[in-house]
Amino acid sequence: MPHCITLIPGDGIGPEVADATKRVLAGTGVNIEWDVQHSGLQALEESGDALPDATVESVRANGVALKGPTTTPVGKGHVSANVRLRRALDLYASIRPAKSMPGVVSRYEDLDLVVVRENTEGLYSGQEVQVTDGVVVSIKVVTEAASRRIATAAFEYARKNGRKRVTAVHKANIMKMGDGFFLECVGDIAKGYPEIQYDTAIIDALCMQLVRNPNVFDVMLMENLYGDIISDLCAGLVGGLGVVPGANIGADVAVFEAVHGSAPDIAGQGVANPLGLIKSAVLMLEHIGELSAAERLYSAIEQTMLDPKARTADLGGNATTNDVVDAILEAC
Ligand code: ATP
Repeated sequence: MPHCITLIPGDGIGPEVADATKRVLAGTGVNIEWDVQHSGLQALEESGDALPDATVESVRANGVALKGPTTTPVGKGHVSANVRLRRALDLYASIRPAKSMPGVVSRYEDLDLVVVRENTEGLYSGQEVQVTDGVVVSIKVVTEAASRRIATAAFEYARKNGRKRVTAVHKANIMKMGDGFFLECVGDIAKGYPEIQYDTAIIDALCMQLVRNPNVFDVMLMENLYGDIISDLCAGLVGGLGVVPGANIGADVAVFEAVHGSAPDIAGQGVANPLGLIKSAVLMLEHIGELSAAERLYSAIEQTMLDPKARTADLGGNATTNDVVDAILEAC
């Protein structure tokens, strides 16, 4: 029986990296039947909606999706299709591992960090109002239910993956109520996982420590906006946005997508690094129980990165997206 999986190519470099990932997955021999659906600018032009109902329904029906990035206009225009998808499917946990890879040059070696980001509320609640002329308010929402379930997701992830420590990241010295309540909820959940070390870090101090001595961290748990920012920082520590994967997990549905955005500056040139989405596909294979294929694919990626000729421009090389795919397929 094939795995039925929704494929959302997205826009910008999305279709290129989605096609690359499809080719690599075909090379693993895992039987996948793709249900291609649209989201982002192309969907907006074709149907007037950046996230058509059919796309949401397909993901709901299949339970798993692989998604390319979609462009969100800054300061105006349509609401982010990503935020809408996460909300529509209640994809509350964003898991973003940032792990060093052999051959990929970065400031630190042997990094193995994981950001667990709350995906449904915080400052991404979409509740903004103009109170009066010259005054705009953005509301940061913190609920007990969402805080407890993201904390549970982080500790369960730590337990399943043999991680030793969870650090809750906050700014409760300033946002005493909002972040203070988040910490209270997380602290309560932590009591159920005595084998995992639990501590907290103020976000500004964490940023400084991440830049100076990131090896001290393990799993970092945080609300939505902090997670968005810290994921990019962690990506920078292990080689850049082009190489880090992500998983958005809900109770019944999971969507796998790279951390990077649609990178319109390099779209259509065939030079985008496909590793972010390909590594997201490794997480997807693990999720659907194809563990040996996941392992084979990950070691093929690692082997490929040892060859400078298989590195794209963001990693200091000249390889095209297709060159990377060919090299991985050869190593598979
Ligand atoms: P968003 O707001 O949608 O998250 P962003 O503003 O963070 O997007 P990205 O689209 O992620 O920006 O890209 C930032 C820059 O990083 C791009 O301009 C591009 O040069 C580079 N970049 C991102 N992803 C890749 C990739 N897969 N391969 C090569 N370069 C990339």
